[in-house]
Amino acid sequence: MENLNEQQKTRLFTALSDRERALRDDIKREVDSQDEYIQLASEVPDAGDLSFANLSIDLGNAAVSRDLHELRAIELARKKMHSGTYGECISCGYAIPFERLQAVPEAERCAPCQENFEHTHHDGMKGASM
Ligand SMILES: [Zn+2]
Repeated sequence: MENLNEQQKTRLFTALSDRERALRDDIKREVDSQDEYIQLASEVPDAGDLSFANLSIDLGNAAVSRDLHELRAIELARKKMHSGTYGECISCGYAIPFERLQAVPEAERCAPCQENFEHTHHDGMKGASM
């Protein structure tokens, strides 16, 4: 976290919290009309519990799946803030620029590594099918 000063860390922490709250609201809204939410809610007595996003729920809802995916990334980022590894690219180990973290606070990789990762991922799929 040496690349970030206290003020930047605080801002990113707030950004993560805000995003998390928005996502939880989104998910709640998405599944509110469905019976699944009752089940979901009863499985999670404490909505603030980390296990919330770790539940594997198949609601057949793309928006919810995407939200849950992002929620997991946010929780991971918060854990990293705790352990002091937040802001480090998991691919190259270099510091992710504050500007990128501001735009995507849960980013795990710097922009070039993310591009590379997606590119490699697609190539791997292609190679496997040949
Ligand atoms: Zn990187």
